[in-house]
Amino acid sequence: MSPLNQFAAGTLKVLFYPLLLLGDYTHKRRQSIRQGYLSLTPEPYFLSKARTRALTLPLPPETRNRQKTLDQSQCDLLNKLPSEVRQIIWKECLGGMTLHIDIRDRRLRRFPCSSPDPKLCHESCWTWYPRPNAVPKRQLLALLLSCRQVYSEAIDLTYSSNTFDMIFPESIVYLPDLVLPQRLVAIRSIHLQWTFTQPPQLPPYGKKGPRRDDWMWTKGWSNLVQMKRLSELRVEIRIPEGSEWALPSWTESEIAILQPLREVKVAGSFELILPFPSLATDVELEGLPCQIRRIGIKLISLEKKIYFLYMPILCWLKAL
Ligand SMILES: [Zn+2]
Repeated sequence: MSPLNQFAAGTLKVLFYPLLLLGDYTHKRRQSIRQGYLSLTPEPYFLSKARTRALTLPLPPETRNRQKTLDQSQCDLLNKLPSEVRQIIWKECLGGMTLHIDIRDRRLRRFPCSSPDPKLCHESCWTWYPRPNAVPKRQLLALLLSCRQVYSEAIDLTYSSNTFDMIFPESIVYLPDLVLPQRLVAIRSIHLQWTFTQPPQLPPYGKKGPRRDDWMWTKGWSNLVQMKRLSELRVEIRIPEGSEWALPSWTESEIAILQPLREVKVAGSFELILPFPSLATDVELEGLPCQIRRIGIKLISLEKKIYFLYMPILCWLKAL
């Protein structure tokens, strides 16, 4: 290599070294969160039990004096179209999406899936760098905030007509504390990815009590039991890269681990994706309300690692 090329390569290394460190730190932190080493501390802000004001019609009598609701008599959309047609319109505007659910800054956040290819959704939506080919995000709240009548007619559809996709177990564990009970029950479709290093333990626990993962496993499934109108549920258990040593204990304790699933009722499809082989007999697995699919451990390929690490640099260079 010529001295000029050596100089150019050295300069590039110095310039990009902080970015490489940042990319590496972000990747390791995400891995740690997925493996349960980092947890949400403090807990999210729970929904207040006593609502300061109602949002949906009809308003309770005691709040009528304080809250003002206009009859919208000038609005043809609300007065000339029948309710059934309006429901179709609201569904077209607010439904049919995959909403990624996350807890950030102690609050429940949702962002519509913007991946042009559903197969690459998780790789593209759950990363922080800009995506040039991303599908434009739809604004959910704009319609709901237009007036109280629209909100009252359409809010349930936001929950019942979309798929809720979560990759952090905290999202399903805290969901009943973050949305109203009637909204929780309205949810029909959930995709959940759950990453564990070791298989969760079920009660009775030792003197130290359950580990956080144990508690989240039990609580997460009991929350899914509460969702009586589920028609699609897909749960994928993942074992992170480097934790293959735990595979035998997953296989050994499979029957016990899957015990909390037996209470879950899903009207349509319930798929459970497991990364470990089974030793259980058909009789032992009988009565489980789900279809089990076994896929083995998904390792992150070298190509994807390079993509995750260098994509922010490419985007940054593109923006210059
Ligand atoms: Zn997505």
